[in-house]
Amino acid sequence: MSHKLLSNASLHEALFVLDGVSAHSCRQSGCWHCGARLHVSNYVRKPRGVPEPFQSFYEKRFSFTCAQCRCRCTPPSVRFFGQLRFVAGIPVLIAALMRGPSDRRCRQLERCFGVRLSASTWQRWRRWWRQQFLFTPFWLQSRGHFAQPEQLGCLPAGLLRAFPGRLVERLWQVLHFLSPLTGGALRAV
Ligand SMILES: [Zn+2]
Repeated sequence: MSHKLLSNASLHEALFVLDGVSAHSCRQSGCWHCGARLHVSNYVRKPRGVPEPFQSFYEKRFSFTCAQCRCRCTPPSVRFFGQLRFVAGIPVLIAALMRGPSDRRCRQLERCFGVRLSASTWQRWRRWWRQQFLFTPFWLQSRGHFAQPEQLGCLPAGLLRAFPGRLVERLWQVLHFLSPLTGGALRAV
């Protein structure tokens, strides 16, 4: 199910467009530190876990540097999750749709996504969602978005369940919801 989801062109395109909108508004507001003009200074990314025809949507992460103080301003992203080499949807999907790591699931993951992931990295992601994420300023401020956040259950699976629509639409909404984690004042990844 999930690997078919990642072959849905409209998802990749929608995420790219959404990041473009976020980058545009970041540039319009100027440097976060001194307000001066921003120059384009994108990061080059080599996407992993995305089928080849859609890789072009993930080749750069939008970012800027200040013309005056040289500070870097990287807007939130729905496509990239922190320093992870995988595009944002992959860690969220893996953490949400698959149970804990095992050798068999690691092989399944490689078959489905073309992603080679060690059980220890997978375990680390699960720990992050279950422990650190709950104490991020982002979650403490945003949990009120849900009527009963304590009843969401395990995250991020609970987030995927909480949004309406088909899986692809829910994933899109979860990534949008989580994007403040990836840049700006609430950055935590
Ligand atoms: Zn500046």
